[in-house]
Amino acid sequence: MSAKTYPGFDAVKARGWLAAHKWLLVRRAVQLSILALFLASPLLVPYTGAWILKGNLTSSLILGTVPLSDPFIVLQSLLAGHLAAGTALIGAAIVLVFYALVGGRAYCSFVCPMNIVTDASLWLVRRFDLSKGWQPGRETRLWILASVMVTALITGIMAWELLNPVTILHRGLVYGVGYVWTVALAVFLYDLVVSRRGWCGHLCPMGAFYGLLGKVSLVRVSAAKRQACNDCMDCYAICPEPHVITPALRGADGGVGPIILSGDCTNCGRCIDVCSKDVFAFDVRFNNASTDDKFNDKDKMISTDRHAA
Ligand code: SF4
Ligand code: SF4
Repeated sequence: MSAKTYPGFDAVKARGWLAAHKWLLVRRAVQLSILALFLASPLLVPYTGAWILKGNLTSSLILGTVPLSDPFIVLQSLLAGHLAAGTALIGAAIVLVFYALVGGRAYCSFVCPMNIVTDASLWLVRRFDLSKGWQPGRETRLWILASVMVTALITGIMAWELLNPVTILHRGLVYGVGYVWTVALAVFLYDLVVSRRGWCGHLCPMGAFYGLLGKVSLVRVSAAKRQACNDCMDCYAICPEPHVITPALRGADGGVGPIILSGDCTNCGRCIDVCSKDVFAFDVRFNNASTDDKFNDKDKMISTDRHAA
C-alpha cells in the first residue's frame, strides 16, 4: 500500500482531484457567491432593476420582495422585548424552513464566512500535525447559547450581537470595516494555537442554534455503503465533527441505521469527497435502512423462497 500523505489521498488517486474535492469546491463557490451578491447588487441594479440581495446575513431582501432574517438573531430580539416587524418574522420562518430541509449546520459549512477562517486554521493544524490543545466539552456551546438568550431576556439588550464574530465579520466584509480582520485573526489564532476546531466545534452559539435545528432536518449524510469501508479513517481525519460518524458507520452491530442523525454534522460533504470506497452520500433522514439491512432482507427473501420451493 502506498504511503498516505493526507486524508483523501486514495480518493484523489481513485477519482481524480476535482471529484475528490467536489463538495469543498461547491461550498466555497456558495460562500463566495453569497458575499459577491451582497457586494455586487448595487452595481447590477441598472441590469436587474432591483438589488438581487440587499442587507447582510442578519437581515436581507431578495429582489426587494423576499425577506430573509437570521432566526438566531430574531429570537434574541424577541427575548429582549423588541417588537419584531412582520417581515422579520416571515424572513426568519423562511430561513428556518430552509435549514429544516437542507440541514441546520449547512449554515456553518455553506454560508457562514467564518467557516473559511476556521477551515484554514484546521488545515494548518493537520498539515503541521499540531496539538489538539484545550478541548472544552461539546455541551459548552449549548451553555453559551442559553446564556446568550437569558442575557437578552434579563437585560433587554442583544448583548451577544456586540461581540458575535460571525456578524462582525460579515458586516465588515459587506460594508468594508477594517477591524473585522482582527476578529477573524483572533478566531484563526484561537483555533490554531489554543484549541483545534475550538470556535465552531465548542463555543459558537450560532453553530449550537443551527445544530439544534439539524436534529430534525431532512437532508442528511448517509454511510449507506458502510460494508465497503476499509477502515482507512480518512473520513474521521477530515470531518470537523468526527464524533458524528461512528454511530452511522459502525452501527451495524447495534442496529443503528446508516444516516448521520447528529445535529452536529454540518452536511459539509467532505466525508463523501475523501472516501475512496464511496461509502457516504447525501440522503434523507427517513431512508435509514442500511445496505446491510437490505442485503440481509434480500438474503432472507431468497432463503424463504428456497424453503417455499
Ligand atoms: S459554528 Fe459559528 S462561526 Fe462556525 S461556521 Fe457555524 S455559525 Fe459560523
Ligand atoms: S460527517 Fe461528513 S458531512 Fe458531516 S460534518 Fe463530518 S465530514 Fe461533514
